[in-house]
Amino acid sequence: MDQPFPSRADCAPRLVAVAAGRAPADLVIRGATLANVQSRELLPGWQVAVAQGRFAYVGPDASHCIGEGTEVVEAAGQFLIPGLIDGHMHVESGMLTPAGFCAAVLPHGTTTMVCDPHEIANVLGLRGVRLMHDEAILQPASMLMQMPSCAPSAPGLETTGFAIDETHVAEAMTWPGIIGLGEMMNFPGVVAGDPRMLAEMAATMRAGKTVGGHYASPDLGPAFHAYAAGGAADDHEGTREEDAVARVRQGMRAMLRLGSAWHDVEAQITAITRRGLDPRNFILCTDDCHSGTLVHEGHMDRVLRHAIACGLDPLVALQMATVNTATHFGLERELGSIAPGRRADMILTSDLRGLPIERVWARGRLVAEGGRLLADCPRLDWPQDVRRSIRLARPSRPGISPSPPPTGASACGCASSASSRTRPRRGRCRSTCRCGTASWNRKGMSHIWRWWNGTAPAGASVAVSSQASAIAGAWPSPPASRMTAITCSSRAPTAI
Ligand SMILES: [Zn+2]
Ligand SMILES: [Zn+2]
Repeated sequence: MDQPFPSRADCAPRLVAVAAGRAPADLVIRGATLANVQSRELLPGWQVAVAQGRFAYVGPDASHCIGEGTEVVEAAGQFLIPGLIDGHMHVESGMLTPAGFCAAVLPHGTTTMVCDPHEIANVLGLRGVRLMHDEAILQPASMLMQMPSCAPSAPGLETTGFAIDETHVAEAMTWPGIIGLGEMMNFPGVVAGDPRMLAEMAATMRAGKTVGGHYASPDLGPAFHAYAAGGAADDHEGTREEDAVARVRQGMRAMLRLGSAWHDVEAQITAITRRGLDPRNFILCTDDCHSGTLVHEGHMDRVLRHAIACGLDPLVALQMATVNTATHFGLERELGSIAPGRRADMILTSDLRGLPIERVWARGRLVAEGGRLLADCPRLDWPQDVRRSIRLARPSRPGISPSPPPTGASACGCASSASSRTRPRRGRCRSTCRCGTASWNRKGMSHIWRWWNGTAPAGASVAVSSQASAIAGAWPSPPASRMTAITCSSRAPTAI
């Protein structure tokens, strides 16, 4: 866990004194209806007392915790809910560093992020991960880092600037802000028993941390079971109800995502709303959010609103973005609920369905109000060579496609802002690819994989990065009749 914030053990003497009425709290909030995600119930009139950034008292009457210097917030008519957790996301997808991302999402009520900085790992390796880690740890919210597992994601076929191996993973597991291994994207490698992939997961499990999964295939046969046996504890790549059910049945957490490009909640949430499965092993996340989505639509608040609009009980949705996620990463006693000892991350909202984010506290500090950021999100002094690590020649002409794709049947696997809006839904693309820069991202892999299995319309044309087209060769029997790989006209990014 991150160190600058005092540990629960260090705070316990004061928390006990406040809860017992022997010492004044720093903050008391009263009058609200408290959403208890531990018991899944609403508790009208319950009050909270906060000290040292943690909940000291949670109960019907906190008046004995009020003393000299205690700030008292009256919240009649509002709901007090835990701060939201994004269980799987990439800061780089926002085209931001951790400080900028934190500043963007705090007004939306996200107070904990589980970040996999694998895009920067592709370019700068362990050094880049450490820089992201070090900026994340400065933030007023909990930006928890995973060590990227797959740079490159298709070894031997990509031109990444750095290759992660098990020694890097083992080293990162000793850093204070690392909580596990980032998504294990090389699922063919795991299934085939690739020693390096298994060694990375072993280093994580030996450190007592969580292995993130990424099984981007509709094949739920032996390959899927082999992947589950390898150690991946969650997976966000499911797109169908049966994908979510299969993961939960194997003891994995099904992460349902709504990002800028991913729309996988609606199809899978029926595992709970229709089939009635126990929701405790389901988690909501974003995976990839462009900064435009953050500004115009929101972050985890957007995911919750969507899940509720899909028929999910608001309290269950809240559990899937708070306590379920914290429990999955072994952090349930540290954050994710309004309960004694936990980080005082909380939101006041006047509507559990529409979820207007009216006030946000992180670690007991008011960090946003009415959509305005009130906290400082400190930045690292990023080294000059890192700031100049992308050297792209300007494309000679806009667009990367030498010929227009068939109407209504094109898609892009790139990670650029343009392509993030062009992900096909149910096999159809909403617009044509207008990506003008080289893109090098494993997202193309999952798209192509799905289309190979028959999701794409026949004759679909796929504009992909040079890397993704290389990945196309990694699997047997690519259905060439269904896919045309079009590489970028500009030069690929050069890593230092
Ligand atoms: Zn993934
Ligand atoms: Zn991801």
